[in-house]
Amino acid sequence: MDAKELFSTNLIDGTVTSHIKRQCNSPHTVIVIGAGISGIAAARSLHEASFKVIVLESRDRIGGRIYTDYSFGCPVDMGASWLHGVCNENPLAPLIRGLGLTLYHTGGDNSVIYDHDLESCMLFNIDGHQVPQHIMIEVGDTYKRILAEIVKVRNEHPDDMPILQAISIVLNKHPELRLQGLAHEVLQWYICRMEAWFASDADIIPLKTWDQEHVLTGGHGLMVKGYDPVVKALANDLDIRLNHRVTKISNGYNMVMVTVEDGRNFVADAVIVTVPIGILKANLIEFTPKLPDWKASAINDIGMGNENKIALRFDRVFWPNVEVLGIVAPTSYACGYFLNLHKATGHPILVYMAAGRFAYDLEKLSDESAANFVMQQLKKMFPDASKPVQYLVSRWGTDPNSLGCYACDLVGMPDDVYERLRAPLGNLFFGGEAVSMDDHQGYVHGAYSSGLMAAENCQRHLLQKQGHMENLPLVPSVRHEMFETTIPLQISRI
Ligand SMILES: Cc1cc2nc3c(=O)[nH]c(=O)nc-3n(C[C@H](O)[C@H](O)[C@H](O)COP(=O)(O)OP(=O)(O)OC[C@H]3O[C@@H](n4cnc5c(N)ncnc54)[C@H](O)[C@@H]3O)c2cc1C
Repeated sequence: MDAKELFSTNLIDGTVTSHIKRQCNSPHTVIVIGAGISGIAAARSLHEASFKVIVLESRDRIGGRIYTDYSFGCPVDMGASWLHGVCNENPLAPLIRGLGLTLYHTGGDNSVIYDHDLESCMLFNIDGHQVPQHIMIEVGDTYKRILAEIVKVRNEHPDDMPILQAISIVLNKHPELRLQGLAHEVLQWYICRMEAWFASDADIIPLKTWDQEHVLTGGHGLMVKGYDPVVKALANDLDIRLNHRVTKISNGYNMVMVTVEDGRNFVADAVIVTVPIGILKANLIEFTPKLPDWKASAINDIGMGNENKIALRFDRVFWPNVEVLGIVAPTSYACGYFLNLHKATGHPILVYMAAGRFAYDLEKLSDESAANFVMQQLKKMFPDASKPVQYLVSRWGTDPNSLGCYACDLVGMPDDVYERLRAPLGNLFFGGEAVSMDDHQGYVHGAYSSGLMAAENCQRHLLQKQGHMENLPLVPSVRHEMFETTIPLQISRI
């Protein structure tokens, strides 16, 4: 960074002068960019290690892709809503336990394909006729056989390819697995569910990595009271500046300067960037000096998926007591499903979920048109359906604070992309779901751990630089002290 340029800037917080005058024993300063769970975890960890931390957040709220809306008179998660991996190994388990939050178990399977048990699904075709349960189960078996065959395709083909292409290779090789009519439509629904998991379409999901995720055990638990209490508890007492959109990061040898939208600058010893990968892909933050090619190409090489929710509150329940109401159709794009929140929370709410291209297409509609679109489907399934009393529509794909829902692998993606994404650059550290370790990208628990990891690396770096390594304890205490408890996770199933 050019020192002259730095001194001529109008500095307000953690000024250059105060930074330079800092005594050896005064706390290190760290700026965390983004008040999602990753940034908040990083900030909490450093705060507890007596670092001076401020969090700069572009939105007027904390939580990022965790967003619990209360306008229905009860919590509704429009972003993340499941704890994927209801087990002690889940880094969020101590926190959720400590807060006494109940989880509603929607599926015991630890695979990425079934986050709901099939016995709690009811399927309908686009005319609203119910699909017999035995067809759903039979097609489910065929689907499993197709998935087993595509693993063989992977072993036979050295080059990566989209999963859709692999399915068509399997169906050409095994015509007995081809389905017609209603069964074909049910198969498309299973593919639609897989697309929802990866938040991208089957012609994008890579054959090479689709089943390589390290999924935690214990199945999938819906946060009955929403994810909001988790974020709020972690954020307590932190210095979080809302409506501070970072536009530039200038990384110097001894300090980093961060510029926000209105031109104000913040200076610190180090910066942790936790903005979504969509923001970095769109170059919404300028880096000086420019990011090295290996980092910039990692940002380009990773994908960003999209998922949206349309939550509908009714005056009464007119649907059956199952967890998922699915719509089968001739293409996976036209399939869909509603999550029945009544089952988990007792409130008459259905949440329609859309992923990939369809999720982007929904964002082109007004909220009213989007709600009408799903109501048309619901009316065919349940002719006595009442009009929704209220509705909410998410727009994660076009929201300038997220530009997508979570990271996804792309076909032919180099193996070291995630390593390069998380690698620090001098005083600059990277957190956020996309950089999480152990294949936990896309998850809340992955984002949380990535924040702790970035904080730990940042702390180690600063202390090493100062030569204080032996004298100062390394945190993060969040993990070990604050919420550690022996109470089991509370699971319910109605
Ligand atoms: C619809 C949907 C459903 C999901 N479902 C689940 C689920 O059920 N279970 C699960 O485990 N995960 C789920 N996820 C993923 C999960 O929400 C994310 O992995 C996680 O919340 C990401 O946390 P983060 O801190 O990395 O990023 P974020 O929460 O996105 O935080 C980043 C923060 O940076 C801010 N920011 C952006 N640009 C700037 C800027 N220029 N300057 C300052 N601040 C900026 C943003 O406003 C945001 O607050 C879902 C996500 C979506 C969108």
